[in-house]
Amino acid sequence: MYVPVIATAVIIAAALWLLPLVYYKYIKKPYAISAEGDEKCLLLTFDDGPDGNNTEMLLDLLALYNVKACFFLLASRAEAAAPLVERMLSEGHCLGFHSISHRNMLPLPPKKTAEDFRRGLEVFRRHNWPVTYYRPPYGAFNFFTLRAARRNGLQLLLWNVIPRDWLVGQSSNQLLQKLFARVEQGAVILLHDASAGAKADKNAPARMIEALNIFIPEMQKRGYRFVTPEYCCREKLLVCNGGYYEALNAK
Ligand SMILES: [Zn+2]
Repeated sequence: MYVPVIATAVIIAAALWLLPLVYYKYIKKPYAISAEGDEKCLLLTFDDGPDGNNTEMLLDLLALYNVKACFFLLASRAEAAAPLVERMLSEGHCLGFHSISHRNMLPLPPKKTAEDFRRGLEVFRRHNWPVTYYRPPYGAFNFFTLRAARRNGLQLLLWNVIPRDWLVGQSSNQLLQKLFARVEQGAVILLHDASAGAKADKNAPARMIEALNIFIPEMQKRGYRFVTPEYCCREKLLVCNGGYYEALNAK
């Protein structure tokens, strides 16, 4: 007698909690920037910050090479490092929301999800920081996460190159080799200017910046241009979805 009820409940739960993730991972193909003609565009994104010295050093480096990027901020850290966020904006970078404090959104019920968006985005509103994009921690989300993002006017922006810069003991040279091997026209590159996950190496952001110090000028020499999602959307180059392929397969 209860079997149909239980089966229906399981199907509804799967549809709400798992289908969106499965859809983005297996059905919606990973894609990034589709530049026209000879143009070669890359998009740098940095998650989990801002983080004192590392973000400061990163901003110095980006300014040195006149590169704009998109920062997916944790609201709790943004609140504690407001001058760094102000600097990002004044130097032409764009902002994304990456939750309050890096909680995995996949298992969260609707109320808790809405609460994370409400309290997190309150920080941005209070400071008058424009925020356009959303990237869930670990790239994990359910139907309610997507709905909350849409209701708050945020556009989901994932990635298609994730060199796992947070790995413990990975040298800056190893990271650099991964970047050179994987980055090609249209890449939306995910890096971290702060460590947030339990498995993240505390020294990884500094090594990532070291790698970028070589990677950025070399790619510029090869004719690549670093652009922001705003530019891509304005020029209709970026269909903002990113992809999961590398996220789940890269080592
Ligand atoms: Zn993150």
